[in-house]
Amino acid sequence: AKAQGRDGIILFNDELAKEVEYRLEIERKLYFALEHNEIELRYQPQFNRDQKIIGCEVLVRWNSPDLGLISPFEFVSISEKTGLIIELGNYIIEEAFKTLQAWEIMGLDLKQFSINISVRQFFHSTFLDEVKRLSDKYLNEDTRKKIIFEVTETILIEDVYRISVIINKLKQLDFSFSMDDFGTGYSSLSALREMPIEELKIDRSFVIHLGERKSDELMITTILSLAKIYDLKTVAEGIETQEQFLFLLENGCDMFQGYYFSKPLSKDHFELFYKESFSK
Ligand code: C2E
Ligand code: CA
Ligand code: CA
Ligand code: CA
Repeated sequence: AKAQGRDGIILFNDELAKEVEYRLEIERKLYFALEHNEIELRYQPQFNRDQKIIGCEVLVRWNSPDLGLISPFEFVSISEKTGLIIELGNYIIEEAFKTLQAWEIMGLDLKQFSINISVRQFFHSTFLDEVKRLSDKYLNEDTRKKIIFEVTETILIEDVYRISVIINKLKQLDFSFSMDDFGTGYSSLSALREMPIEELKIDRSFVIHLGERKSDELMITTILSLAKIYDLKTVAEGIETQEQFLFLLENGCDMFQGYYFSKPLSKDHFELFYKESFSK
């Protein structure tokens, strides 16, 4: 029973209400999901210039019995707003550390292992202590060196000095940092220069238009030369075609990730994929 002549407004309100309701539902169910093992990790292989597996990125998945598969873009950003990202983030770090240590024992030898850290998690007062605690519990010196924390340019809401203090404390423990989605946010060149990181990640949104959009090619070659200037390793994500891979290879990108090589895999599938890649 909607008032006549005001459909537009009512529709808008209805949709807004539905959206709010959906977010609240995700929020409520995410608490439950964390306690009931509905949250899982996937591992997407990363390859070097010889197309050998050298690492992976950890990606979170939530398959809710009620809501279905929910995109991490959605529930990670909701958990950022509600603060649940702290529990969720700690859970992801713990599970990821366990996996890496188990792989090390199996002889599955990766050079690097990347974990996404959201902005609120990065600045949270317990972040350093949690990483230390979990690393003491699960990792040895060798595996700790392999961990890379991926942060996005959104951390630049704070000044570079404050960010560097946090990063440097973890660097002292041998952890490394990568700037994720580089070029999609607000980072300035001076911020990049002062940031104590070792890697830049080229976002899928630039890779996707390779061969079609000259401006995106230019963006990528610019990021790659910037990385050289600042002595940063480069990883390109979202590579789906050989053409995209070859463009990145020819322009000096160090590492490659995308469906062209492999989708994100469960722990078991990653182990199989790794073994098969060495028996070829
Ligand atoms: P991201 O960090 O930029 O991760 C890369 C995304 O690109 C992943 O999406 C990955 O599955 C997808 N991808 C990789 N290669 C390809 C490809 O060739 N084609 C296509 N179409 N997609 C590709 P996903 O797993 O859905 O994650 C989305 C975003 O959610 C991530 O973007 C990240 O911002 C966030 N996220 C995922 N896992 C975590 C996590 O454990 N912690 C935090 N804080 N955020 C996470
Ligand atoms: Ca990432
Ligand atoms: Ca990202
Ligand atoms: Ca991205």
